[in-house]
Amino acid sequence: MADYYSLLGVDRSASAEEIKRAYRKRARDVHPDANPDDPEAAEQFKELSKAYAVLSDDQQRARYDQFGEAGVGGAAGGANFEDLFGNGGGLGDIFDAFFGGGGGGGNPFGGGGGRRGPSGPPRGQDMEVAVAITFEQSVFGDQVPVDLKLPQTCDTCDGSGAGEGTKPVTCSECSGSGQVRRVRQSVLGQMVSTSPCPRCGGLGEVVTTPCESCRGEGRVTTDKTYTVDVPAGVVDGSTLRLTRRGAAGPRGGGPGDLYVHLRVRPHDRYHREDDDLVTDVTISIAQAALGTTLELETLDGVESLVVPAGTQPSHQFVLKNRGVPRLQGRGRGDLRVIVDVEVPTQLSTEEAELLRTFAEGRGESVGEAGTGLFSKIKSAFS
Ligand code: ZN
Repeated sequence: MADYYSLLGVDRSASAEEIKRAYRKRARDVHPDANPDDPEAAEQFKELSKAYAVLSDDQQRARYDQFGEAGVGGAAGGANFEDLFGNGGGLGDIFDAFFGGGGGGGNPFGGGGGRRGPSGPPRGQDMEVAVAITFEQSVFGDQVPVDLKLPQTCDTCDGSGAGEGTKPVTCSECSGSGQVRRVRQSVLGQMVSTSPCPRCGGLGEVVTTPCESCRGEGRVTTDKTYTVDVPAGVVDGSTLRLTRRGAAGPRGGGPGDLYVHLRVRPHDRYHREDDDLVTDVTISIAQAALGTTLELETLDGVESLVVPAGTQPSHQFVLKNRGVPRLQGRGRGDLRVIVDVEVPTQLSTEEAELLRTFAEGRGESVGEAGTGLFSKIKSAFS
C-alpha cells in the first residue's frame, strides 16, 4: 500500500483538519456508491479509508510516522479498523453521515476518530431523539431531517481543549500514564492499587491554557441536523441506531451513538395490519346490488376498483403486493379494501316508492314510512 499521506494528497505536516478535508474530498470521488461497477475504485476507497483511519488518530499517526505501515498494521497493536469505526457500524453508515448528513456541518468523527485505550478520553454519551414521520414515509421510506442539540468537537481547538497556540502537556502526576499507583503496608504485606490519576482524570495530559471556546472541555453543544434514512416498512416505535453520531466525548474522545425513535402519525384512511394496508370503502345498496367501479385513492395513487354486482357487506377485496414493503425480505404486503354497504336513511317520496315497488316485486313485506313494522317495534321498546 502506498504512503498514507500521498494517498490522501497531504503533507506529512498536515493538520487534522486538512487530513479530514482531503479524505472527504477524495472519498467522494472513489466512493463505491458513486462507482458501482468499478472494482478499482472500491479498492482505492478501502485504501483511502484505511489511511484516514490511521492518520486521523493522533496515536496511530505517531506510530505510522515512526514505524510506517508496520507500526499500525498486523497483530502488533495496530489499527483495528472495525473498531475505529464503531461497533459494526460499517462504512456505509459513516458515509450517510458525510453525504446524507444535512446542515449542521459538524464533524461526525469527533476528535480525531477512534476510541482510545482505557487511559484515553472517554467516549461521548449516546443520545436519543424522537422524530414524527408521516404514515406514507413509514411505508415508502424517506430521508428525514433530525434536529438536535448535541456536544460536538470544538472547532477552535479540534477537541484537544488546549487554548490557541498551546498544546496539552504530559501530566506530571502520572507521567502520562493516566494511572497512579498507591502502595500501602498492611498485615498481609504490601498492597498495590492503581487508580485513574486525579490530576488529569486518567487522560495522561493536562491543559494548561484552556481553549476559550470550550473552556478546555474539547467540545461544545451546538445545533445539528442529521438526515436520517428511514427504511421503507418501518413501524411506529421503531428505533434506528446511528453509530458515532451521538455526543462527542470530552477532550477528543470519540462520539457515542444516536438512537432515533420513530413515531408514525396515523393516516386518516389507511392503517396497517402487519405488512398489509387496510382501508374501507362505503357503497350504497344500489351499488352493492348492481355493481360499480370505484376510484380508490391508494398510497401509490388512484386505482380503479371494480365492485361486482351482488357484493356483500364486509366483503374484502385484496390487491396483491400493494401493501407495505417488507422491511426484512422482498416484496410488499397486500392492500385490503373492506366494503361497507350504507342503507339510506333519508329517502325522498320517489325513492321510497321505487324501493317499495322493488320489495313488492320480490314479495317482501315493507312498512309505511313512520307507521311501518320497524316503527311499531321501536315504539314498543321505547
Ligand atoms: Zn476548544
